[in-house]
Amino acid sequence: MRRKLVVGNWKMNGSRVSNAQLLAGLREAGPWNADVAVCPPFPYLTEAALALTGSGVALGGQDCSAHEQGAYTGEVSPGMLADLGCRYVIVGHSERRTYHGESDLLVADKAKAALARGVTPIVCVGETRAEREAGQTEAVVKRQLAAVIHGLGHCCGEMVIAYEPLWAIGTGLTATPDQAQAVHAVLRAQLRAATDRAAAMRLLYGGSVKADNAAALFAQPDIDGGLIGGAALVAADFAAICRAASV
Ligand code: PEP
Repeated sequence: MRRKLVVGNWKMNGSRVSNAQLLAGLREAGPWNADVAVCPPFPYLTEAALALTGSGVALGGQDCSAHEQGAYTGEVSPGMLADLGCRYVIVGHSERRTYHGESDLLVADKAKAALARGVTPIVCVGETRAEREAGQTEAVVKRQLAAVIHGLGHCCGEMVIAYEPLWAIGTGLTATPDQAQAVHAVLRAQLRAATDRAAAMRLLYGGSVKADNAAALFAQPDIDGGLIGGAALVAADFAAICRAASV
């Protein structure tokens, strides 16, 4: 059985004071019978690593460069994330694809660079509302996943996938457990054709996961946890989601 994974994406939120409170709240609420990670903004990673020492909660970055070092102003390399103790990095989040024009190819390059430094990429895929309404959900997520499978080659079994329909992110509109499971099953089938590790790979759902809908989503056969935005900013809410993942 796959161990569930719950990852909090703090996005561009927090301050030294509020982070300390949030992390102290998580320490108090844990541990859980699931893997748990938080992804604070880059400037707070070092302090977060200190605050999480011994808690069992892992650390992740929200993005990384596809390059290892050099003249790339403003970027953060996977090696730097590894240096700071990050186990995971989110790549291809829809906010990066939408606001920063990140292509499927760039997302695959970032995932490859992360794996090369021992940081597990959490690769986000998902369709817009218009694409869903046009019946293109499957084609969109398969295209996004194909790019990263191709880029990683035989290492593709090492990544985590997060299915995040754009129409559900930050909107309060969650995909129903059946809707999410249907897409996860498509992704798992695609992975099965690419790697013999497919059955062991974790596929997360993200998009308005809350304490009251997490258990039903996580009960689906191909949903192995969640990528959590808004609810990751409140210790009690995030802890309740982690509890729902603890089986
Ligand atoms: C996200 O941004 O990855 C996300 C899932 O956000 P929310 O939980 O707020 O919808």
